[in-house]
Amino acid sequence: MRSKLVAGNWKMHGGMAQNRLLLDLIVGGTRGLYGADCAVCVPYPYLSQVQSLLQDTHILWGAQNMSQHEKGAYTGEVSATMLTDFACRYVIVGHSERRALYGEDSLTVALKFKAAQSAGLLPILCIGETLEQREANVTEQVIADQLDAVIGLLGVSALAKSVLAYEPVWAIGTGKTATPQQAQDVHAFIRNRVADKDIEIAAGLQILYGGSVKANNASELFSMPDIDGGLIGGASLIADEFIAICRAAQS
Ligand code: PEP
Repeated sequence: MRSKLVAGNWKMHGGMAQNRLLLDLIVGGTRGLYGADCAVCVPYPYLSQVQSLLQDTHILWGAQNMSQHEKGAYTGEVSATMLTDFACRYVIVGHSERRALYGEDSLTVALKFKAAQSAGLLPILCIGETLEQREANVTEQVIADQLDAVIGLLGVSALAKSVLAYEPVWAIGTGKTATPQQAQDVHAFIRNRVADKDIEIAAGLQILYGGSVKANNASELFSMPDIDGGLIGGASLIADEFIAICRAAQS
Protein backbone atom coordinates (compact mmCIF):
# COMPACT_ATOMS: atom_id res chain seq x y z
CA MET A 1 0.00 0.00 0.00
CA ARG A 2 1.47 3.34 -1.04
CA SER A 3 1.29 6.24 1.36
CA LYS A 4 0.24 9.63 0.06
CA LEU A 5 2.31 12.79 -0.15
CA VAL A 6 1.18 16.39 -0.43
CA ALA A 7 4.05 18.70 -1.34
CA GLY A 8 3.74 22.46 -1.55
CA ASN A 9 5.69 24.31 -4.21
CA TRP A 10 6.02 27.86 -2.99
CA LYS A 11 7.65 28.97 -6.25
CA MET A 12 9.15 32.48 -5.87
CA HIS A 13 6.99 33.47 -2.93
CA GLY A 14 7.73 33.96 0.74
CA GLY A 15 9.30 36.21 3.32
CA MET A 16 10.72 35.56 6.78
CA ALA A 17 7.66 36.78 8.69
CA GLN A 18 5.04 35.26 6.41
CA ASN A 19 6.86 31.89 6.25
CA ARG A 20 6.82 31.64 10.02
CA LEU A 21 3.13 32.43 10.21
CA LEU A 22 2.24 30.02 7.40
CA LEU A 23 4.33 27.16 8.77
CA ASP A 24 3.04 27.61 12.33
CA LEU A 25 -0.50 27.26 11.01
CA ILE A 26 0.35 24.28 8.78
CA VAL A 27 2.14 22.43 11.58
CA GLY A 28 -0.78 22.98 13.94
CA GLY A 29 -3.43 22.22 11.35
CA THR A 30 -1.94 18.95 10.14
CA ARG A 31 -1.14 17.44 13.52
CA GLY A 32 -2.28 13.85 13.82
CA LEU A 33 -2.50 13.29 10.08
CA TYR A 34 -2.27 9.61 9.19
CA GLY A 35 -1.36 7.81 5.97
CA ALA A 36 -0.03 10.95 4.35
CA ASP A 37 3.16 12.99 4.46
CA CYS A 38 3.22 16.75 4.00
CA ALA A 39 6.14 18.74 2.66
CA VAL A 40 6.98 22.25 1.52
CA CYS A 41 9.46 23.05 -1.24
CA VAL A 42 10.71 26.54 -0.63
CA PRO A 43 13.06 29.12 -2.20
CA TYR A 44 16.74 28.57 -1.35
CA PRO A 45 17.17 31.62 0.92
CA TYR A 46 14.55 30.25 3.31
CA LEU A 47 15.91 26.73 3.68
CA SER A 48 17.74 27.56 6.88
CA GLN A 49 14.66 29.20 8.41
CA VAL A 50 12.40 26.36 7.29
CA GLN A 51 14.81 23.76 8.65
CA SER A 52 14.82 25.37 12.07
CA LEU A 53 11.03 25.83 12.10
CA LEU A 54 10.22 22.31 10.92
CA GLN A 55 12.99 20.08 12.22
CA ASP A 56 11.05 18.88 15.24
CA THR A 57 7.73 18.60 13.43
CA HIS A 58 6.03 16.10 11.11
CA ILE A 59 6.34 18.42 8.08
CA LEU A 60 9.11 17.63 5.60
CA TRP A 61 10.83 20.12 3.34
CA GLY A 62 12.84 20.47 0.18
CA ALA A 63 13.93 22.74 -2.65
CA GLN A 64 12.45 23.52 -6.05
CA ASN A 65 15.47 23.06 -8.28
CA MET A 66 19.19 22.31 -8.17
CA SER A 67 22.22 22.09 -10.42
CA GLN A 68 23.12 18.90 -12.21
CA HIS A 69 26.77 19.67 -11.38
CA GLU A 70 28.50 18.69 -8.16
CA LYS A 71 30.45 21.94 -7.77
CA GLY A 72 32.47 24.40 -9.78
CA ALA A 73 32.26 27.62 -11.74
CA TYR A 74 28.48 27.77 -12.12
CA THR A 75 27.58 31.22 -10.89
CA GLY A 76 24.19 31.38 -9.22
CA GLU A 77 23.71 27.64 -9.05
CA VAL A 78 23.07 25.45 -6.00
CA SER A 79 24.27 21.86 -5.70
CA ALA A 80 22.50 18.84 -4.26
CA THR A 81 25.07 18.58 -1.47
CA MET A 82 24.30 22.15 -0.45
CA LEU A 83 20.65 21.17 -0.11
CA THR A 84 21.59 18.30 2.18
CA ASP A 85 23.29 20.84 4.48
CA PHE A 86 19.76 22.03 5.23
CA ALA A 87 18.42 18.50 5.70
CA CYS A 88 16.19 18.68 2.64
CA ARG A 89 14.38 15.45 1.90
CA TYR A 90 13.00 16.44 -1.50
CA VAL A 91 13.99 18.48 -4.52
CA ILE A 92 11.68 19.18 -7.44
CA VAL A 93 13.32 18.55 -10.81
CA GLY A 94 11.91 19.27 -14.25
CA HIS A 95 9.07 21.55 -13.18
CA SER A 96 7.38 22.80 -16.36
CA GLU A 97 8.32 26.39 -15.46
CA ARG A 98 11.99 25.34 -15.44
CA ARG A 99 11.55 23.50 -18.73
CA ALA A 100 9.68 26.35 -20.42
CA LEU A 101 11.32 29.46 -18.94
CA TYR A 102 14.88 28.24 -18.40
CA GLY A 103 15.26 25.84 -21.32
CA GLU A 104 15.76 22.70 -19.26
CA ASP A 105 15.54 19.72 -21.58
CA SER A 106 14.80 16.17 -20.50
CA LEU A 107 18.47 15.16 -20.48
CA THR A 108 19.34 18.04 -18.14
CA VAL A 109 16.42 17.06 -15.93
CA ALA A 110 17.64 13.45 -15.89
CA LEU A 111 21.13 14.63 -14.89
CA LYS A 112 19.61 16.68 -12.06
CA PHE A 113 17.61 13.64 -10.97
CA LYS A 114 20.85 11.64 -10.88
CA ALA A 115 22.76 14.30 -8.93
CA ALA A 116 19.90 14.59 -6.42
CA GLN A 117 19.87 10.87 -5.74
CA SER A 118 23.65 10.70 -5.50
CA ALA A 119 23.45 13.22 -2.66
CA GLY A 120 20.70 11.27 -0.91
CA LEU A 121 17.79 13.53 -1.88
CA LEU A 122 14.46 12.26 -3.18
CA PRO A 123 13.81 13.92 -6.54
CA ILE A 124 10.21 14.85 -7.35
CA LEU A 125 10.29 14.48 -11.12
CA CYS A 126 7.68 16.61 -12.91
CA ILE A 127 6.33 15.49 -16.25
CA GLY A 128 3.38 16.77 -18.25
CA GLU A 129 2.05 17.89 -21.59
CA THR A 130 1.11 21.33 -22.89
CA LEU A 131 -2.38 22.13 -24.13
CA GLU A 132 -1.21 21.94 -27.76
CA GLN A 133 0.25 18.50 -27.12
CA ARG A 134 -2.98 17.29 -25.46
CA GLU A 135 -5.03 18.63 -28.34
CA ALA A 136 -2.71 16.95 -30.82
CA ASN A 137 -3.26 13.65 -28.97
CA VAL A 138 0.41 13.20 -28.12
CA THR A 139 0.08 13.34 -24.32
CA GLU A 140 1.24 9.76 -23.81
CA GLN A 141 4.18 10.20 -26.18
CA VAL A 142 5.31 13.36 -24.36
CA ILE A 143 5.00 11.69 -20.95
CA ALA A 144 6.82 8.59 -22.18
CA ASP A 145 9.70 10.66 -23.60
CA GLN A 146 10.09 12.67 -20.38
CA LEU A 147 10.05 9.50 -18.29
CA ASP A 148 12.32 7.56 -20.61
CA ALA A 149 14.98 10.28 -20.37
CA VAL A 150 15.45 9.28 -16.71
CA ILE A 151 15.01 5.54 -17.23
CA GLY A 152 17.38 5.62 -20.20
CA LEU A 153 20.12 7.35 -18.21
CA LEU A 154 19.73 5.58 -14.88
CA GLY A 155 17.63 2.47 -15.38
CA VAL A 156 14.17 1.83 -13.99
CA SER A 157 15.60 0.98 -10.55
CA ALA A 158 16.35 4.69 -10.04
CA LEU A 159 12.61 5.33 -9.78
CA ALA A 160 12.47 3.32 -6.56
CA LYS A 161 13.90 6.27 -4.68
CA SER A 162 11.94 9.07 -6.26
CA VAL A 163 8.51 10.62 -6.57
CA LEU A 164 6.82 11.42 -9.88
CA ALA A 165 4.48 14.34 -10.38
CA TYR A 166 2.15 14.42 -13.35
CA GLU A 167 1.49 18.08 -14.00
CA PRO A 168 -0.39 18.94 -17.16
CA VAL A 169 1.10 22.31 -18.11
CA TRP A 170 -2.34 23.66 -19.06
CA ALA A 171 -3.56 23.10 -15.50
CA ILE A 172 -0.70 24.80 -13.65
CA GLY A 173 -1.69 28.11 -12.11
CA THR A 174 -4.64 28.41 -14.50
CA GLY A 175 -7.48 27.32 -12.24
CA LYS A 176 -8.20 24.56 -14.81
CA THR A 177 -7.81 21.18 -13.14
CA ALA A 178 -7.64 17.92 -15.02
CA THR A 179 -10.74 15.91 -14.21
CA PRO A 180 -10.03 13.06 -11.82
CA GLN A 181 -10.52 10.65 -14.72
CA GLN A 182 -8.18 12.58 -17.05
CA ALA A 183 -5.52 12.58 -14.36
CA GLN A 184 -6.11 8.93 -13.46
CA ASP A 185 -5.73 7.90 -17.12
CA VAL A 186 -2.29 9.48 -17.35
CA HIS A 187 -1.24 8.19 -13.92
CA ALA A 188 -2.25 4.67 -14.96
CA PHE A 189 -0.32 5.08 -18.21
CA ILE A 190 2.79 6.11 -16.24
CA ARG A 191 2.46 3.24 -13.77
CA ASN A 192 1.89 0.70 -16.54
CA ARG A 193 4.90 1.94 -18.46
CA VAL A 194 7.07 1.52 -15.36
CA ALA A 195 5.44 -1.86 -14.65
CA ASP A 196 6.48 -3.09 -18.09
CA LYS A 197 10.03 -2.77 -16.82
CA ASP A 198 9.60 -3.55 -13.12
CA ILE A 199 6.28 -4.43 -11.56
CA GLU A 200 7.38 -3.94 -7.94
CA ILE A 201 8.86 -0.52 -8.52
CA ALA A 202 5.68 0.49 -10.33
CA ALA A 203 3.52 -0.73 -7.47
CA GLY A 204 5.48 1.28 -4.90
CA LEU A 205 5.94 4.44 -6.95
CA GLN A 206 4.28 7.58 -5.58
CA ILE A 207 2.75 9.52 -8.48
CA LEU A 208 1.44 12.94 -7.47
CA TYR A 209 -0.98 15.04 -9.47
CA GLY A 210 -0.29 18.76 -9.82
CA GLY A 211 -2.28 21.51 -11.50
CA SER A 212 -4.72 23.80 -9.69
CA VAL A 213 -5.37 21.37 -6.83
CA LYS A 214 -7.51 23.13 -4.22
CA ALA A 215 -9.36 22.17 -1.06
CA ASN A 216 -12.53 21.68 -3.09
CA ASN A 217 -11.15 19.21 -5.64
CA ALA A 218 -8.41 17.39 -3.72
CA SER A 219 -10.51 14.56 -2.25
CA GLU A 220 -11.90 13.51 -5.59
CA LEU A 221 -8.48 13.56 -7.23
CA PHE A 222 -6.82 11.69 -4.38
CA SER A 223 -9.48 8.99 -4.39
CA MET A 224 -8.36 7.78 -7.81
CA PRO A 225 -6.41 4.52 -7.59
CA ASP A 226 -3.17 5.76 -9.16
CA ILE A 227 -3.07 9.25 -7.65
CA ASP A 228 -0.89 9.25 -4.56
CA GLY A 229 -1.23 12.85 -3.48
CA GLY A 230 -0.47 16.22 -4.98
CA LEU A 231 2.12 18.83 -5.86
CA ILE A 232 0.45 22.06 -4.88
CA GLY A 233 1.42 25.53 -6.12
CA GLY A 234 -0.85 28.48 -5.35
CA ALA A 235 -2.91 26.74 -2.69
CA SER A 236 0.20 25.82 -0.70
CA LEU A 237 0.57 29.50 0.25
CA ILE A 238 -2.82 29.64 1.93
CA ALA A 239 -2.76 27.82 5.25
CA ASP A 240 -6.42 26.73 5.34
CA GLU A 241 -6.31 25.49 1.75
CA PHE A 242 -3.08 23.57 2.18
CA ILE A 243 -4.19 22.02 5.47
CA ALA A 244 -7.47 20.90 3.89
CA ILE A 245 -5.59 19.39 0.94
CA CYS A 246 -3.26 17.52 3.32
CA ARG A 247 -6.29 16.26 5.23
CA ALA A 248 -7.89 15.10 1.97
CA ALA A 249 -4.88 12.84 1.45
CA GLN A 250 -5.41 10.92 4.68
CA SER A 251 -6.25 7.27 4.26
C1 PEP B 1 2.89 23.75 -9.49
O1 PEP B 1 3.48 24.80 -9.55
O2 PEP B 1 3.54 22.69 -9.43
C2 PEP B 1 1.43 23.76 -9.46
C3 PEP B 1 0.81 22.62 -9.53
O3 PEP B 1 0.82 24.99 -9.35
P1 PEP B 1 -0.75 25.27 -9.07
O4 PEP B 1 -1.19 24.35 -7.99
O5 PEP B 1 -0.80 26.71 -8.69
O6 PEP B 1 -1.45 24.98 -10.36
